[in-house]
Amino acid sequence: MNEQAAVVEAKQRTIRKSKIDYSQGPAPVSVNEAWCKACNICISLCPQNVLAANADGKPVVAQEENCIQCGACWTHCPDFAIKSNYR
Ligand code: SF4
Ligand code: SF4
Repeated sequence: MNEQAAVVEAKQRTIRKSKIDYSQGPAPVSVNEAWCKACNICISLCPQNVLAANADGKPVVAQEENCIQCGACWTHCPDFAIKSNYR
């Protein structure tokens, strides 16, 4: 296994399902596209691989069931462009 594959496997091992059932309510986080500058900090910092970049490079919720409301995305966004719908 090469180094990159090992990193991916290690990251995936830590991913766990959220205790919140997001299928019964809003998405775990919302992005204000007008404020987002597509820096991708939130995508990089998410420990659960919840976020992915859309065609404009802005984050979308790709794996909502994994979001643990850790706050890494919204506390590090330099533009206050991502927020939780549960906190
Ligand atoms: S950290 Fe904020 S500005 Fe950067 S991509 Fe995420 S939501 Fe957009
Ligand atoms: S709150 Fe945490 S787990 Fe949820 S999208 Fe943001 S960084 Fe990822």
